[in-house]
Amino acid sequence: MTCFVLEQLIGESKALDRSIAGEELSYDDGIELMNYENLHILGAVADIARKKLVGNTVSFTASYYMNYTNVCAASCQMCAFYRKDGAEDAYTLTPEQIEQRVAIAENMGATEVHIVGGFHPTLPLEYYENMMKIIKKNHPQLKIKALTAAEIFFLSKLTKNSTKEILSRLKDAGLDSMPGGGAELFHPEIRAKIVRGKCTGQEWLDTIEQAHNLGIKSNVTMLYGHIEKPSHIVDHLIKIRDLQKKTHGFITMIPLKFSLDNTELEQEHLVNNECSSLYDLRITALSRLMLANVLNNISVYWVAYGKKLAQVALSNGGNDLVGTAFSEEIYRAAGKPTTSSLDELAIMVKEIGRQPVQRDTFYNVIKKF
Ligand code: SF4
Repeated sequence: MTCFVLEQLIGESKALDRSIAGEELSYDDGIELMNYENLHILGAVADIARKKLVGNTVSFTASYYMNYTNVCAASCQMCAFYRKDGAEDAYTLTPEQIEQRVAIAENMGATEVHIVGGFHPTLPLEYYENMMKIIKKNHPQLKIKALTAAEIFFLSKLTKNSTKEILSRLKDAGLDSMPGGGAELFHPEIRAKIVRGKCTGQEWLDTIEQAHNLGIKSNVTMLYGHIEKPSHIVDHLIKIRDLQKKTHGFITMIPLKFSLDNTELEQEHLVNNECSSLYDLRITALSRLMLANVLNNISVYWVAYGKKLAQVALSNGGNDLVGTAFSEEIYRAAGKPTTSSLDELAIMVKEIGRQPVQRDTFYNVIKKF
């Protein structure tokens, strides 16, 4: 139910009209909304869509985030994290070191481990299998969310195995789900300018489709706020939507704000400022509206936004908070705050009049606050 004034304003936009009617938005609709002037109305419509789909709860999970290595064969222009093998501050954890950290995280209440890293040029597939086996053996209750589709694709090239073979072996070793990283923006025009040495957008999509077909669900991300145009954003969201219609394998979509500091894009003055908070809100709202008929969850990455803006994003289409991490090396490399307790997140949610819930990896409710 929308009020009369809101209906009048929405009526001026075909795309918003179609959103309210529950119709799927076209590419042109997406472009219209990327340029739509009244951000308050856009956010209000996204909020209505959110409420219709998932009600008033805001979920978050006790996730332990860990980077097993910062050594990377790639050198993406948007990345502040990677180091070359042999660099003074390069590191690679052994499966045993990883397990020790996981044990501490489980004691602190973590229900999942989120493990990603660089494209290590020499680690064999057995390293990843051992990592998962040792975690599962000692922590059978913990869910392992590990390795992005980009890492799987790299591993398949490195080890000369198909992505299906790699994913099947990792699933047998204990892999429960996959994070959504490495998606960045799929469009080749923009991808070539922000990543170097990483799979193409289509290769990312093919790899994650393979994972979904094997029963491995995943998240999906979208890196925005650098040198993209509205068309790249809309293209990315439509590609996510198309694949979701086929596999139903995405659990949540996470818009990721580009973090400027220490990246090549900053050093070469291709991006001089991070995008505005208004742009953040537009992206959250558009993600909700473009994916409304296929995906329930739009996550707000509070680590990048800060808590106050995250609250506003939750009122512009978001229904989930990610970044409840006990460690977050990638954002730390770019000088961002990283951790928060579940109680702090619950307070943040209550402050905006919503119901906080702790969830597991697959969005089953563990606890209401
Ligand atoms: S974004 Fe990932 S693949 Fe690219 S350089 Fe950084 S760690 Fe390597």
